[in-house]
Amino acid sequence: MIVTRFAPSPTGRLHMGHALSAILAHDMARAGGGRFLLRIEDIDGTRSRDEHVATIVDDLAWLGLAWDGPVVRQSARLDRYAAALERLRQMGLLYRCYCTRAEIADAMSAPHGPVAAYPGTCRGVPMRDAPHCWRIDMAAAVARVGALSFTDYARTIAADPLAQGDVVLARKDAPASYHLAVTVDDAAQGVTDVVRGRDLFEATHVHRLLQALLELPVPRYHHHALLTGADGERLAKRHGAPTLAAMREAGEDGRAVAARLRAGEGWGDMPGAGQSVALPSRPAHPTFGS
Ligand code: GLU
Ligand code: ZN
Repeated sequence: MIVTRFAPSPTGRLHMGHALSAILAHDMARAGGGRFLLRIEDIDGTRSRDEHVATIVDDLAWLGLAWDGPVVRQSARLDRYAAALERLRQMGLLYRCYCTRAEIADAMSAPHGPVAAYPGTCRGVPMRDAPHCWRIDMAAAVARVGALSFTDYARTIAADPLAQGDVVLARKDAPASYHLAVTVDDAAQGVTDVVRGRDLFEATHVHRLLQALLELPVPRYHHHALLTGADGERLAKRHGAPTLAAMREAGEDGRAVAARLRAGEGWGDMPGAGQSVALPSRPAHPTFGS
């Protein structure tokens, strides 16, 4: 049975890109007689707000999307992430990182140009009593599991988690990071198909590695194109795209908005978009909100 999920972080209001992810995940489950789950990714206790959870629920109803089963909140599952973290620590793959935000920003803007990933400053430094997050020693982890791949729509992708560097698996203020929580939860909830934006494609390489280390099942991935505005620019909040709540309050018909997204309006032109049989096909160069 197909199981998909929509997994928003309640740190702000949803916009059209979230609506597209939710609709595609919902429709894939419905087309296959499967289940569509709602998971609230609220491990960030300082930025998550209950009022945003309430708005997410209203937004989904407005779009005409219903989910199956109880809403899962990551804040209620911290012990699971801690257990997974402990397992990785036992494997000797984690180290403490004491760097401050400023130090990391500094290290990543090296004289020879910005570097893409954390350069491993704290790997091998003596343990001390100071606030720290936990990072994975990516080279050691990759050496342990060997070559991995995942599917993105119909394509097979060779996983390259090394390019993401020694990512954080537990934050200074939480026993998990996005990467760890999402991997543990997709497995725990029996998610067979992860539908999410192309902006999370790189993260999937890390998730695939964690699945191998933690011996978890591997879902199929569907990284959909990102919405673009009439100017071809990515529709994101910084371009002043309206939130779903604002559209609702302005009296727009959410089901009509969903129908336009299903028809392909506003889809970008990234490889892999809309290629699955369960997803609507995508016109060549559509735009939204022109
Ligand atoms: N919580 C993530 C976000 O809102 C999405 C997680 C996912 O789909 O894997 O960006
Ligand atoms: Zn560090």
